[in-house]
This record gives sequence, C-alpha cells and structure tokens, in this order.
Amino acid sequence: MSLAEQLDTVTDEAAGTVDRHATTQTFESTDPATGAVVGVFPVHDAAAVGETVERARTASRAWSDLGYDGRRQRLSAYRGYLARRMHELADLVHRENGKPHADAILEITLAIDHLAWAGAHARRTLGPRKVSAGLLAANHAAYLEYQPLGVIGVIGPWNYPVFTPMGSIAYALAAGNTVVVKPSEFTPAIGAWLAAAWRAAVPDAPDALQVVTGFGDTGAALCRAGVDKVAFTGSAPTGKKVMAACAENLVPVLMELGGKDAMIVDDDADVAAAADAAVWGAMSNAGQTCIGIERVYATSAVYDRFVAEVTAQVRALRPGSDDEATYGPMTMPSQIDVVRRHVSEATAAGARAVTGGTDDDAFPAEGYVRPTVLLDVPDDAAAIREETFGPTLTITEVRDAEEALERTNATSYGLAGAVYTKSKARGLDLARRMRSGMTSVNSVLTFASVPALPFGGVGDSGFGRIHGEDGLKEFTRAKAITRQRVPLPVNLMSFGRPAKAADALARVMGLVHGRHR
Ligand code: NDP
Repeated sequence: MSLAEQLDTVTDEAAGTVDRHATTQTFESTDPATGAVVGVFPVHDAAAVGETVERARTASRAWSDLGYDGRRQRLSAYRGYLARRMHELADLVHRENGKPHADAILEITLAIDHLAWAGAHARRTLGPRKVSAGLLAANHAAYLEYQPLGVIGVIGPWNYPVFTPMGSIAYALAAGNTVVVKPSEFTPAIGAWLAAAWRAAVPDAPDALQVVTGFGDTGAALCRAGVDKVAFTGSAPTGKKVMAACAENLVPVLMELGGKDAMIVDDDADVAAAADAAVWGAMSNAGQTCIGIERVYATSAVYDRFVAEVTAQVRALRPGSDDEATYGPMTMPSQIDVVRRHVSEATAAGARAVTGGTDDDAFPAEGYVRPTVLLDVPDDAAAIREETFGPTLTITEVRDAEEALERTNATSYGLAGAVYTKSKARGLDLARRMRSGMTSVNSVLTFASVPALPFGGVGDSGFGRIHGEDGLKEFTRAKAITRQRVPLPVNLMSFGRPAKAADALARVMGLVHGRHR
C-alpha cells in the first residue's frame, strides 16, 4: 500500500472512531515544511476516551493470559511489520515531524530494537521466582512476581513520535498491559499509523494498542479515564498538570520530561570527536531532542580548538526539507519564539554568536532556524538555565573538569549528558557524579540505543524509567506470596504462643545481631 493510501486508511479509521463516538470535531495535522495537510483526525472527548479505555480494559485479560511467550510472539510480529515498512513510516515521520528521512529511519530502528528486547526479556525480569525466606520465616517458601497493572495511558510528544512513545508502549505491552496512546496534536498521523500497524500485525488482539487523538484536553481525559498508570513524555509544566489530574484518582505516573543536557570536554579529550558529537547532539532533529546537548563546558586547555572545530562544522549544516538538508524545520511553530528569545537575551547580556544569532540570517525561512553557537553566555541567561529546544549550543570556558561538572550540575534539570576524556577512570567518575539519569562517555545519546539500560531523569527532568528491566517493572506491581512448608512447634504469630517465646527470640537476636557495633 502506498503512503497516500496508508494515510487515507489511517484517516478513515480515525474518522470511523469519530462516528463510533458521535464526535464531530476534527483537526488537521500539517507538514511543518510546506503547511500541506497530512491528515484529518478526530478530537476525542472524555466520552470517546472513556470508551477506548473500556475496550482496552476488556482486552487486557486476554492479553495478559497470553503469557510471556504469546505476547513475545505478537510483539515480534509487530516489529516485523514495522521493519518491513520502515521507509513508509519514515516518509510519514518526515512529512509530519519534518526531520530528514534518514533520521526517521534511525528513530524507527531504535524503536524496533526496544520492541525486540522488551519481548525477549519480560519473562526473566518479571516472571515468578523463589526468593530466600530468611531466618524468621525459614519454614516458608517465598515467591515474587511482577504482575501487569491493566491499562496504561501513554501521552507522547512530537519530537520523536515513534521512539518516545514506543519506549513506554513496548515495555508496557511486554509486561502484560494493554495501552491507549495519545500522540501530540502535531503528530497524530504517526500515532494513528502505529495503532493501525498493530491491528494489521496482531489481528487477534486489536485492542491491545489503541490511539486517541486531539489536544491537551484529550490527554487530560485519558488521565481521568480509569487507566492504571500514565506514562507521560513532554515538558515539565505539562507534566505537572498531568500529575495533578492523575492525583484525583491516585493514578501513578511516569514522568519523562525536558532537559538542559551538558557535555564536559576535558583537557585530554579528542577535540575533533567531541566537536563532531556536540554538533550532532545539539543540532540534529533541529535541536528538538530531550537528551540533546544544549551546553558545553570545555576546559581552558581545549576551549579554543573546540570552538574552532564546532564553528567549522556548523557552517556546513543546512536546514531544509530536501534530501540534502542536514536537519528539518521546527515542528512546533511557537518553539521558534522560544529559541529567538533565548538567543536575543543572551546576546543582549553580552554573549557572542559565532554562527547564527538573532538577525534574519539565523531564521532564513519560515519554520527554520540556522545553527547558532553562543559563547560567553552569562550563567543566569535563559540559554543556560531553560530548555531551548532548538539548534543552538552554548560553549563555556572552564578552568578544569571539576568546574565543568559543578556548572553542569547547577540546573534544575537532570536528564542526560556527555563527557569527553581519554581516561577511562576519569570519564566514569565524572559520569557517576553528573546529576543526571544517563551519561555517555566519548559519545552522545548512546544510552538510548542500549535497550538494557534504563532511560529517565532526575529533578525537573522527571522520575521513573522506561527501557531495560526497570522499564519493564515500571508497568507492573510487585506481588509477594509466602507458602508455609512445615509448621513450627512454636508459632510466634499466634495468641497460643508460650509466654517465654519472646524471651527466647530476644536471646537468638542477641546472638545473631548483637555482636555488630
Ligand atoms: P508538551 O508537554 O507540550 O506535550 C506533551 C503531550 O502532552 C502532548 O501529547 C500534549 O498534547 C499533551 N498534553 C498537553 N496538555 C495536556 C494536559 N493538560 N493533560 C494531558 N496531556 C496534555 O510537550 P511537547 O509535545 O512540546 O514535547 C516537547 C517536550 O517533551 C520537551 O520538553 C522535551 O524535552 C520533552 N521530551 C522528553 C523526553 C524524555 O524522554 N524525557 C523525550 C522527548 C521529549 P498536545 O500536543 O495535543 O497539546
């Protein structure tokens, strides 16, 4: 099926959902490069969202009963379907989000890898196991297992519209939950495509993965629709609203929020490699990457060389929508104002823009921002403190790596970061002390492509983890069971225990633990 036919199907199916819920309101998603309409989608209201969650609830029993092998087989069918249609999906991502086709392929590749890992590791991570019953319950067997929660609501952003929701979807499904996804209003076609692909690839469990579309109100309705957990990825301000809505019914939340990630370039770093990684980390996807590099702290020993390398490299970048463009337009038009404000405030406060800046040259055509590198930005400027989410980079000279670490950590965010040094010990030490959920040494963003590693932040970057064993457990509740194997002659948890039993217990505890000081 061609992309056009596929989209028609997606739009028709979404429209079918409208009819089913007697909703008449629709909205358009558009290509950020051309303004052309990509698709028309229903605005699901609270009743429609409630019905979708109800279908997911009905489906959850059968999905859970499939067991680990049954779910793994269906997740494999889904990833096979995505892999066979990668170019088709990448074309849609290019059209609706604006990123280059090749970057979309990379994003889809990561999502497929996570689907494979989650399906393959769910049983070992979550399945029933015996644990030691310990001294006090030595006559019992103790069992632990991680049971699915039921229905998971996934609310996603527009910047990585496949990879980001899939970080929750894959792990929630593998753990035995069904899922209702609310994609961003800027990327509903991609969300609808993913749900239609599920129905095609897994026809015997079509309601295990469903989509609802609309604006913030639809997301808020999902929080209140009786889901068992909400996995939210987006900005910190919206995350607070989601938490408040979920708190009404004590619905637990997973928060994957924004960042202000930094790279530390130490004295002994491979400067050319660090510059290459900083430019990619800052500018790819037009800088609209939660784990993108927004700040660099380079030691005096390497600062001049680093700035020269970065300057030379960014001059070769060209935003656009054609096949040769290095990155695309800003997906969300209002983000351009944020970028412009951060850059103009910084330059007004004395920062130097070595490339880009605030003049018209930096904003060459509607929707695009040229790469902007800022030096000498004051610490209290928004470009240092707030998430810019555009193709910008600040570079700050520091005395040494310790000062770099201190300034890296002086932010309310704590999502990820990078360290460049040739010393393994130094690199790992700096990585451990970086106040962030993830750090890569001598590369950028690599942790996102390691399915076994958890993904998530600290502070204003959120809490909870997707990916890896932690990501599977995030969508479960731990269940503890004991089974008495043999009764003891003296049962301490009985009113029938002998009067001296407590004294005997105190003596034993004294012998076992009393020698520790
Ligand atoms: P937003 O916070 O604006 O929106 C995220 C999602 O929440 C969208 O689907 C949005 O719907 C929905 N939403 C909006 N209002 C509400 C509400 N009141 N209740 C429930 N849902 C609501 O983020 P963006 O889409 O602009 O994404 C960019 C942000 O996401 C950046 O801060 C980025 O750092 C962060 N991000 C974090 C990642 C991580 O893993 N930590 C990964 C990727 C991005 P609608 O679009 O229709 O308004």
